Amino acid sequence: MTQNYRITLLPGDGIGPEIIAVAVDVLKLIAKQHDLNFEFQEAPIGGAAIDLTGNPLPEETLQTCRNSDAVLLAAIGGYKWDNLPRHQRPETGLLGLRAGLGLFANLRPAKILPQLIDASSLKREVVEGVDIMVVRELTGGIYFGEPKGIFATETGEKRGVNTMAYTQSEIDRIGRVAFETARKRGSKLCSVDKANVLEVSQLWRDRIIALSAEYPDVELSHIYVDNAAMQLVRWPKQFDTIVTGNLFGDILSDAAAMLTGSIGMLPSASLGATGPGVYEPVHGSAPDIAGQDKANPLAQVLSAAMMLRYGLDQPAAAEKIEQAVLKVLDQGYRTGDIMSEGMKPVGCRAMGDVLLQALEQ
Ligand code: NAD
Repeated sequence: MTQNYRITLLPGDGIGPEIIAVAVDVLKLIAKQHDLNFEFQEAPIGGAAIDLTGNPLPEETLQTCRNSDAVLLAAIGGYKWDNLPRHQRPETGLLGLRAGLGLFANLRPAKILPQLIDASSLKREVVEGVDIMVVRELTGGIYFGEPKGIFATETGEKRGVNTMAYTQSEIDRIGRVAFETARKRGSKLCSVDKANVLEVSQLWRDRIIALSAEYPDVELSHIYVDNAAMQLVRWPKQFDTIVTGNLFGDILSDAAAMLTGSIGMLPSASLGATGPGVYEPVHGSAPDIAGQDKANPLAQVLSAAMMLRYGLDQPAAAEKIEQAVLKVLDQGYRTGDIMSEGMKPVGCRAMGDVLLQALEQ
C-alpha cells in the first residue's frame, strides 16, 4: 500500500531554492521506486519571509510545519538582512522554528566518503572508515540556564554569569533519542560529560547509566569532554554514536564534521519528542555563490535521506539515496567546493541530473 507523507519545504535564502529543488526531484523519483507519496508544501522562512511579510517566521509557516510529517529546510540568511534589528533577522526565524517545534535533539553525522578522503586535513589511515553520529542536546544546558547575565558585584566590578543546568527529564529524553539512534547504527553509544568536575555532568552520567538498562543491546561508554576532543582527532574510528549536552555538542559536532573536510556534504536532523523533525544541511545560505548554479546540493540531498531514515522510518529509500550519492562521486562528478584534479566539474543542476540517473540504474 502506498504510504502518504506531508513534507513542508522551507527553501529559505541564497542557494536554498537551488539545492532544495534537486532534493525534491530526488524525493519524487524515490517515491515512485518505493511506493511512497509525498505531498509537498512550500513555505517562506528567513530573509524570504521578511521580504514577503516582515517576519522571519510567519505563523502560517510554523503551522504548516506543525501539520506535516517532516520539514526539509535549506538555509537562511544573507547580506541584505544583516543590519536589521535582532528580532527581524533571518536567524531569529530559525531559532523560532526550533523552539516552536520543540526540537531538543540535534543529530549530526560525520561520515567520511571514500571518494573525498583527501579533502580531510587528517591522514588517510586516521579518517578512512570514520562514521560517527553526534547527538547533541539542543534546548537546555548552559545556553538556556538561569541565572544568566552581566551583573555588578558589591565592589562595582562586572561579573558575567551563565548556568549549566539539566533536569532529569531533559537528560532522559535526549538519552532515549541517543540510544534509539545507536540502535539504528553500530549499537555503540559514548556519552560525553565532565563528571569529574561538574555536578550537572554527574547527574547526566547517572541518568544515562540508568537508561542503559532499557537498552541492553547498546554498548555504553563514558568519556570526559577534554579527552573526547583529543580522541576525535587522534583515532576517530573508535566512535559510533556520541551523546552530549548543548555546549559540548556544539563544539564536538563541528570538530567531528570537519574530519570529513567538506561543508557542502554534511546533513543534519533536529528532532522533538513528538511531531515533525527538521532536516537541513549544516552549511549556510552561501550568498557568495547564490543564483550561479555553483552550489553543491549533496548535503541537502543527504538531509532528505536522513528525513527518510529518522523521520519517516523508510531506511531502504534512505539507503538508496546515499548509495546514489556515492555512485556519482565514484563517477567523478564534483561541484566546485569538492573539486580535485582529474574530476568532472558540474553545477548544481547537473549534479541533480546525474543523481537521478544513478537512482534509475
Ligand atoms: P556558509 O556555510 O553559507 O558559507 C561558507 C562558505 O562555504 C562560502 O564560501 C560558501 O560559498 C561555501 N558553501 C557553503 N555551502 C555550500 C554548498 N552547498 N556548495 C558550495 N559551497 C558552499 O556560511 P557563511 O558564509 O558564514 O554564512 C552565510 C549566511 O548563511 C549568513 O547569513 C549566515 O547567517 C547564514 N547561515 C545559515 C545557517 C542555516 O541556515 N542553518 C547556517 C550557517 C550560516
